[in-house]
Amino acid sequence: MVSIFSLPRIRRSLPFPPRPDPEMPAPQCASCNKARAALRRPRLGQALCGTCFCAAFEAEVLHTVVAGRLLPPGAVVAVGASGGKDSTVLAHVLRELAPRLGISLRLVAVDEGIGGYRDAALAAVRRQAARWELPLTVVAYADLFGGWTMDAVARSTAGSGRSRSCCTFCGVLRRRALEEGARLVGATHVVTGHNADDMAETVLMNFLRGDAGRLARGGGLGSPGEGGALPRCRPLQLASQKEVVLYAHFRRLDYFSEECVYAPEAFRGHARDLLKRLEAARPSAVLDLVHSAERLALAPAARPPPPGACARCGALASRALCQACALLDGLNRGRPRLAIGKGRRGLDEDGPPREAEPEPSGPPASEPVPAF
Ligand code: SF4
Ligand code: ZN
Repeated sequence: MVSIFSLPRIRRSLPFPPRPDPEMPAPQCASCNKARAALRRPRLGQALCGTCFCAAFEAEVLHTVVAGRLLPPGAVVAVGASGGKDSTVLAHVLRELAPRLGISLRLVAVDEGIGGYRDAALAAVRRQAARWELPLTVVAYADLFGGWTMDAVARSTAGSGRSRSCCTFCGVLRRRALEEGARLVGATHVVTGHNADDMAETVLMNFLRGDAGRLARGGGLGSPGEGGALPRCRPLQLASQKEVVLYAHFRRLDYFSEECVYAPEAFRGHARDLLKRLEAARPSAVLDLVHSAERLALAPAARPPPPGACARCGALASRALCQACALLDGLNRGRPRLAIGKGRRGLDEDGPPREAEPEPSGPPASEPVPAF
């Protein structure tokens, strides 16, 4: 069996796995040599049975957490649970690993107030919490942000109800809501389900916008918790989206797979399309992008001044108000575009702002599973 400690190097050096011939019988699992292989790992090309694949996937996440010192023993971990495949897989894997890591888990779900989408996703989170016997707390934008829901924000920003800026607003507010929810349940750490493909998309978006500051800050597996914020990390950051789908498939996880109604408008979709084309030509493109962001550093002259504290809420802020307070301020004054205008006045439209990580709305669960 491949040592998990040499995986990043091996992942980048192996060729893309050959397409299996549907006429050929499935080979033996390369790990246990007992069962028939049920899949070929998308990057490594290794033929594994479902049980050995899930064990390898969990071992790799464990390695990411331990090697990166992401979650120390005794940590109370708030898992940002959206009901989607990534956070479902993350919660399941961490639940499996919790005894070995010495951590305890709390599910925190955010209700953005998106009609026809979030209610069904939250139902999936409630089923997971009940099945896995994990405490669940739901925090709602409407309660936290003076009655603003995402649907109300969309109406206010565009009039059409489906503004291009929705994910920009949502990313900022969602991050704040998750932080509030995590504090409510007494968490010491926050984890989110971003996978390698999500991270590569973010790197590409930052490149396409020429945003060196975000590029340099976007590397690493998380943030240590600057300015009094809880430390955050992304334990699935080195796991490919295909393998997240495979893990959910073989563990028979119940998750919600519909796309958010505002997602088609987001710039992220263009980065996703571009990444898929790049990956077809160069299978290691996703991880190469993630690793390249880890190594980027800003030249001293290009570094922005160190952030201060928001005059209203005390959170980290590069201007007088943090992004969440600036957005809410603009909304309450009926001038939301002031807060999201292009350039240095505010946030860039459609992009994850400095402190925001819009929830990726990945491909539906119907993505083909490379099984034999
Ligand atoms: Fe919010 Fe995600 Fe929907 Fe964008 S796609 S509006 S970030 S839930
Ligand atoms: Zn603030």
